[in-house]
Amino acid sequence: MEFYSLLFLLLPFAALSGWWMAVRNQRKAHSLIFSRYQKEYLAALKYLVDDQPDKAIQIFTGLVEVDKDTIELHEALGNLFRQRGEVEKAIQIHQNLITKAPLQSGLRSQAIFSLAEDYMRAGLFDRAEALYLELLESGVYKVPSLTALIDIYERERDWTNAINFCQQLERATDKSLKTVEAHYYCELAQEVLNREDPTEAQKYLEQSILCDPNCLRALILSSELSMQMRDYAQAINMMQLVLGRDPSLFPLVKSNLRQCYLMLNTKSAYQSYLQSLLEISFTSPILIEITFELESSEGTESASNYLTDHLRKNPTLAGLSRLIELNTKLVQPAQKNDFQILSELIGSLSKDQPAYKCHNCGFTASYLHWQCPSCKRWNSVTPAVTK
Ligand SMILES: [Zn+2]
Repeated sequence: MEFYSLLFLLLPFAALSGWWMAVRNQRKAHSLIFSRYQKEYLAALKYLVDDQPDKAIQIFTGLVEVDKDTIELHEALGNLFRQRGEVEKAIQIHQNLITKAPLQSGLRSQAIFSLAEDYMRAGLFDRAEALYLELLESGVYKVPSLTALIDIYERERDWTNAINFCQQLERATDKSLKTVEAHYYCELAQEVLNREDPTEAQKYLEQSILCDPNCLRALILSSELSMQMRDYAQAINMMQLVLGRDPSLFPLVKSNLRQCYLMLNTKSAYQSYLQSLLEISFTSPILIEITFELESSEGTESASNYLTDHLRKNPTLAGLSRLIELNTKLVQPAQKNDFQILSELIGSLSKDQPAYKCHNCGFTASYLHWQCPSCKRWNSVTPAVTK
């Protein structure tokens, strides 16, 4: 019973305990391989208990044969090391397993999949990619391999491959990933827009809209494309379409929208549009932008009065901060210091409020991410404070 006593000591290793249960249930039918190398396994497990993992690994990798029963122990041990962050040890065990596992068996594929996971954990994405592709070729672990490959191509910003494997995953799972695919096309469009290649950008944006007709990012990029082509009226149309659907995206297009109106020499139309937008949806960024326009066209006092009227109905911290800023310019020099103190106090109250938040994982940011940097979801980051 010495062997089972040893395994009992290993119970804190959650991954191994499952294997122990399986072995205990089949104690009368040990595998031939296990019987042949029982002495070595005992020694290796003893080293693990004594916290000498390197010596244990030496024995495990030195065993010349594995079979269905013993491979599970190797697997569990490798996965345990990975979970503990000891990825090099996990890689060593899984690499050894691949060379020992009988060819043409599911056991080898299992070991390849585990090794690919080790490589992912170690950040060795090119090696992981090669193994996942090998598994796809073999027709096993299809869905997890496709999912992992998409993850790799997203990290590497290889959007063409991301689209390709996203489409394969859709076919394999029969689940639509069109909203994600639309973002991949937007990423490609953004790249060519940066190189000022309007024809290619147009092509990618059309693909994006085809995938997801509600993709507002594609409309925003289309407005940037129109600006590159100096079609400012069309750019305004696009941005108004975006804001008509989601006014909270105003901070994202504000600068371009203003520039387009200026290029068309229709600054007053910009102000009228903002006021009509504010009536549809009250948000602080729109209100504050109006006060900047009013200040430049009618003066500081007019902007202050306009803002005060609106804040009485819809008080917001951002609005209050802007009101103090305006009034600091209006008060006597002796009072300016008091207003500046007030401004700092309001500023410290609002600085802890994030502008954007992921509704999936709670990640917060000061600017919009189309893909959450924390949980990697697309379209999950939205304005945290809309008023
Ligand atoms: Zn998230």
